[in-house]
Amino acid sequence: MTPRKGESPPLPEPLPAAVVDAHTHLDACGAKDSASVIEILDRASSVGVTRVITVGDDLDSAVWAAEASTWDDRLFAAVAVHPTRTSGFGDADKAVLEDLARRPRVVAVGETGLDYYWDYSTPQEQDAAFRWHIDLAKRVGKALMIHDRDAHEDILRVLTEEGSPEKVVFHCFSGDLDFARRCVERGYVLSFAGPVTFRNAKDLREAAAFVPADQLLVETDAPFLTPHPFRGRPNESYAVAYTVRDLAALRGVDVAELANAVSATAQRVFSLPAVTSDLPNGEGLV
Ligand SMILES: [Zn+2]
Ligand SMILES: [Zn+2]
Repeated sequence: MTPRKGESPPLPEPLPAAVVDAHTHLDACGAKDSASVIEILDRASSVGVTRVITVGDDLDSAVWAAEASTWDDRLFAAVAVHPTRTSGFGDADKAVLEDLARRPRVVAVGETGLDYYWDYSTPQEQDAAFRWHIDLAKRVGKALMIHDRDAHEDILRVLTEEGSPEKVVFHCFSGDLDFARRCVERGYVLSFAGPVTFRNAKDLREAAAFVPADQLLVETDAPFLTPHPFRGRPNESYAVAYTVRDLAALRGVDVAELANAVSATAQRVFSLPAVTSDLPNGEGLV
């Protein structure tokens, strides 16, 4: 993974209503202990990003994410072994993940899926691990958080063959309008990261304009995929506010309306406990 260069983007103007960053990697953003986690969460909530889901991408990172989610009420976790790390994925790993996935603050099984861009794991290893994670999500009754890189058709095929869990989220959705339609028809939820704000991402922006608000989420995938106009600079949960504003303009709706809608979607999909708002301007949540 390439380290991000340059200065962090400035804090955006606070959002008029709270949102959830539905996918980030706090450990990869440099957080280690509760103090460094809380620092990132404080920066996020100061602009209305009041809840965050941190995602573990290998076993150590999943253990850390599950643990970190107990350090602050604003933080939740998702656990899985990332498709690119599935070489050698075995019974001992499965036992650890099974235990983590059942913890109350772990709200999703992910990120799992298929990644045909990198070749660290074979398609067969990825396929087997993806199927195991699908089954895990069903057994623990939590959302399945999918990583799909250059693998749209195979992802849908495997979901059909295995049977989808009740709640399926495509993290960092990367398809076009047609693929978005097919996902929406199946009841899946599409989560958009920084690339949706890139001015040359025509197909992706068309897809994002179409997705019904109750199947729409926003995320950073920080420290990667920093939104426009800060592309290439370090990303962090607070920057999802830039994506929300951009997406509201794209969809032709008020920022508050979109923020409330994506918040409600996150709350439903991840079964987040209801919270009273901790927005700096004291506005209500959802
Ligand atoms: Zn991913
Ligand atoms: Zn990720």
